[in-house]
Amino acid sequence: MHPFTLSRATDAAEAIKAHAKEPQLAFIAGGTDLIGLMKDRTTFPEHLLDINHLPDMSRIEVLPDGGLRIGALARMSDVAAETEVRRRFPVIAESLLFAASGQLRNLASMGGNIMQRTRCAYFRDEDDLPCNKRRPGSGCSALHGINRNHAIFGWSDDCVATHPSDVAVAFAALDANVLVHGRSGERSIPFTEFHRLPGSTPERDNVLGRGDLIMAIEVPARVEGRASYYLKLRDRESYEFALVSVAAALAIDDGRIRSARLAMGGVAHKPWRLRTAEAALHGASLQDLDALKAAIATSFIDARPLTHNGFKVELAQRVALRALQVAGERA
Ligand SMILES: Cc1cc2nc3c(=O)[nH]c(=O)nc-3n(C[C@H](O)[C@H](O)[C@H](O)COP(=O)(O)OP(=O)(O)OC[C@H]3O[C@@H](n4cnc5c(N)ncnc54)[C@H](O)[C@@H]3O)c2cc1C
Ligand code: SF4
Repeated sequence: MHPFTLSRATDAAEAIKAHAKEPQLAFIAGGTDLIGLMKDRTTFPEHLLDINHLPDMSRIEVLPDGGLRIGALARMSDVAAETEVRRRFPVIAESLLFAASGQLRNLASMGGNIMQRTRCAYFRDEDDLPCNKRRPGSGCSALHGINRNHAIFGWSDDCVATHPSDVAVAFAALDANVLVHGRSGERSIPFTEFHRLPGSTPERDNVLGRGDLIMAIEVPARVEGRASYYLKLRDRESYEFALVSVAAALAIDDGRIRSARLAMGGVAHKPWRLRTAEAALHGASLQDLDALKAAIATSFIDARPLTHNGFKVELAQRVALRALQVAGERA
C-alpha cells in the first residue's frame, strides 16, 4: 500500500484551508470507501485528514418547517434509526437500510456515502486496465467489455459507470440540498446538481473542488415525504449494490396522483430523476395500471442500453411501478 500520514482535524476552517492547499490530502470519515480505493491502488493520497472530531457535524435535526438537516458525519445507521427520519421520510431510512451491511453502516458517514466512487469493476481493478475515471485518457474497458451493471442513461463514450449510493437516490427524489463550506464561504448545492454526468471528464464524480467540505444535507419539508418508498433490486440479498433501484414519493387526492417524485439508482452516473414520468403521472389513478405504466414509459424513450444491460430498461420500469404502488398505499 502507498505510504501515507494521518492527522486529526478539530477546526473546520483549518481543515478546509489544508485541503485547498495540499492536492495530495484527502478527508477521511468512516474510511469504508477511501481505504478500499487505496488498497485497490485507485487513489494515492499522501496525507489523510481525519474529520471525525469536527464539532456539530453529526447531528440529525428536524427544522422548524418540518424538513431535516443531516450532519455530514452522522452515521448511516443513526440516520436510518432516527424516529423523525422514519416518520417524515421513510424513503431515506429504507434506502440506508438496504445499503451495505450493519457493520459498515455503523461506521460509514452520510458525507462519505454521497462521495463514494463507482463500483465499476474496471475502475477498482488493481491490474490497471484502461479506465478514464481512474487514469484519464486511457480508455473505457466497460464500453465494449462487461457492462451488465452499467448505465442506460446519460453515459458517454468515455465512461458508462453508474453512481453507487442508495440514499443519494432518495435525496435526489426529495430535492435535498448539500451544504458545503469552501474557501469562499458556504453554499447550498441542489442534490440533483451535485453529481455529474461523465461527459469527457469522468474522473470528476461531482461538482466539489479542492477545499470543499460537506457540512450537512438538508431535506426540505415535502408533502410527499410520508408516502415514500425505496425499492432496490440486487443480485444478492445479504448486501449488494443496486442493479436498479427507485425512490418514489407521492401526494394523492381521492386516489389520483397530485404530485409524484421518482428517482432511480443503478442506471446513470448520477441519481436519475424521471421528470417526464412525474409530469405524466399527474392526475393518474393509482388503480389504473395501464396509465401508470404508460406514464413511466415516457421517461425511458431516451434509454440507451449497452451490450449486456438491455434487461435494465424493462426491469427499471417494473421497479418504478411497484415503488409507486407501495408509496400509494402509504398515502
Ligand atoms: C462491501 C461494501 C458494500 C457496500 N454497499 C453499499 C450499498 O449497497 N449502498 C450504498 O449506498 N453504499 C454501499 N457501500 C458504500 C458505503 O456506504 C460507503 O463506503 C460509505 O458510505 C462511505 O462513507 P465513509 O464515511 O466511510 O467515507 P470515507 O471512505 O471516509 O470517504 C469517502 C470519500 O468521501 C470524502 N469525504 C468524506 N466525508 C466528507 C465530507 N464531509 N466532505 C467532503 N468529502 C468527504 C473522502 O475524502 C473520500 O473521498 C458499501 C461499501 C462496502 C465496502
Ligand atoms: S465505465 Fe467509467 S469507471 Fe468503468 S472502465 Fe469505463 S471509464 Fe472506467
